[in-house]
Amino acid sequence: MLQPVELYSALGLADRNNLFNQLQSIYNNLPETTCEGCATCCKWGSPPAFFIEYLNMYKYLRDNMKDKYKEILEKSTEYFYLELVDASQACPFLNEENKCSVYSVRPFTCRSFGLLSQQDFEIGDRSLRSLAEKYWEEYNIKISDELVNSELAWCGKVASSQGAHIEKSILAGLAAQISTIDYKFFPQDLVDQEGTLLPYPTHMMNTVLGAGARARKIKVMKEFSDQGTKELLNTFIEKARSYQF
Ligand code: SF4
Ligand code: SF4
Repeated sequence: MLQPVELYSALGLADRNNLFNQLQSIYNNLPETTCEGCATCCKWGSPPAFFIEYLNMYKYLRDNMKDKYKEILEKSTEYFYLELVDASQACPFLNEENKCSVYSVRPFTCRSFGLLSQQDFEIGDRSLRSLAEKYWEEYNIKISDELVNSELAWCGKVASSQGAHIEKSILAGLAAQISTIDYKFFPQDLVDQEGTLLPYPTHMMNTVLGAGARARKIKVMKEFSDQGTKELLNTFIEKARSYQF
């Protein structure tokens, strides 16, 4: 698990070192895209974001979405605890109009979705089969077949201002450039093993909840999968909702 860092020092370090501008310059290498906006990809799950992208989104939320703090905190907490036992969990930034509420700061994973050719696209299965076996053997928690078998299909409805698909190696190179920004915050080995590339709700819970609450994830999952209730989860949601940005 990624060690929490003191958020305000991380934001300060990012500002002093121009890291948000560096991130934006990398994003600028991608073409503008449009799509049909069906939100299938956003409902599939919360995409992974590098730590610098999390900080960028955090700052945007803090400065522009004051009226949405509590809702995002609630959705992120639910997602963090229930992503493996509740197939209805979607990205916390998908709003009631089926649109992205943080579009201008969405992470690289979202920006690049649909830019690969179908041939280059690797089915986005979440390798849940072995995880499902582990959860069943160790905790008696059943991860539903719906989740285990879920796959994010290639989307052919993305139109790019560049008019063509982008090679996989180019996208991988840009993602690698973003990862090097995370070296400012974490050991290089950890970053290179994708230890800082996590779903937004995981980053958020590292910030807003203590280790004790995060460690009770199994208990929350078990309560939900055995009884369909959220008693323990609700205590953590209340705690998260009281977080001050
Ligand atoms: S990229 Fe494709 S799946 Fe995602 S919202 Fe657009 S049309 Fe839907
Ligand atoms: S951040 Fe925005 S674009 Fe990305 S999955 Fe969430 S709602 Fe969709």
